[in-house]
Amino acid sequence: MAGIYIHIPFCKSKCTYCDFASYPKEIGKTEAYFACLYREIKGRAEQYKNKVYDTVYIGGGTPSIVDPKFIVGTLRQIKKCFTLRADAEITIELNPGTVDENKIKAYKSAGINRFSIGLQSGFDEELKRLNRIHTAKDFLNTCNLLKGENISADILIGLWDQKIEDVKKTIDLAILGGAKHLSVYALTCEVGTPIYTDFLNGELLSDDETGELYEGVVAYLKGKGYSRYEVSNFCLPGFESKHNLNYWKRGEYIGCGVSASSFMDGRRFTNTFKIDEYMNAVIFNKSPEISSDVIEGDDAKFEYIMLGLRTKYGVDVEKFNKEFGADFMSEYKTALNKNKPYLEIVGNVVRIKDEYLYVQNGIITEFMK
Ligand code: SF4
Repeated sequence: MAGIYIHIPFCKSKCTYCDFASYPKEIGKTEAYFACLYREIKGRAEQYKNKVYDTVYIGGGTPSIVDPKFIVGTLRQIKKCFTLRADAEITIELNPGTVDENKIKAYKSAGINRFSIGLQSGFDEELKRLNRIHTAKDFLNTCNLLKGENISADILIGLWDQKIEDVKKTIDLAILGGAKHLSVYALTCEVGTPIYTDFLNGELLSDDETGELYEGVVAYLKGKGYSRYEVSNFCLPGFESKHNLNYWKRGEYIGCGVSASSFMDGRRFTNTFKIDEYMNAVIFNKSPEISSDVIEGDDAKFEYIMLGLRTKYGVDVEKFNKEFGADFMSEYKTALNKNKPYLEIVGNVVRIKDEYLYVQNGIITEFMK
């Protein structure tokens, strides 16, 4: 299985917690950016010929902020250059308040069949403090335009004096909007972002308080029929994100655009985060990559374990042994024994027990050599 990731680095304004490659002031470069993106797609497809792709994920930034002709053009170029399965999962990220009926129509006719909406909170005061450009009502309006479609919603926890009852209300709103998949992320405050000041002032929830909220979210969603298949991801049966599952199964993916990362033929590489540098590289037939690492040996094994243990699918021992010509149970005997209380073996799979998934980091590092 292989995926394609496309990065659109434009937003209307910057959210206070945002550390992604998104540049509200650069929106005037949209036309030139897409010309370069189409060119990179063509070049990457030639570089990685003979592969078949199962998913496309158009993320950002805010892909829904640009004229839909650019999204349609991007998908046309992908289909022209790459071999994409006819039943491919094609996702676009949307921000409420940036879409209308015509945009949705254009996305659907281009083959987009999954819509990931950034809700973050169901409370307008919180949305304002996060500098989001929308209200809770805008979210419902966007959902109304997408009735019957495969909708996912992103939610943030760990905000100021957030209580579990607040998060439940946000979840209820997402479900009311028709979300069959929910990504619930604990807020992380990166140095340099405006919200970092709130973090330094102790105004945000502590890790323990956020952990408690998270456990409340898991229980609440379980009661609603949404099961957790990865630390931050929940869905109704059959609505897992195929694109993200491929990441966690250490599958291959090609990323195009500013800051996009890829994993192809055992090599991980990332494009520059700077729009001008990216466009110059593409125009002058140079590589836009700023890092490139071939992952092999113990590093490759650790990646496989780390990614697998984040999910309910765990590490498939048979697959691991086959892929690496190894004996997982004896090679990782010490880590397995040390973490016995936190792990379970079900058939051929070693996974972290449900109740310890949130604190998986400490367990996973034990498998590092
Ligand atoms: S919409 Fe997303 S990418 Fe854009 S500024 Fe907000 S958090 Fe960042």
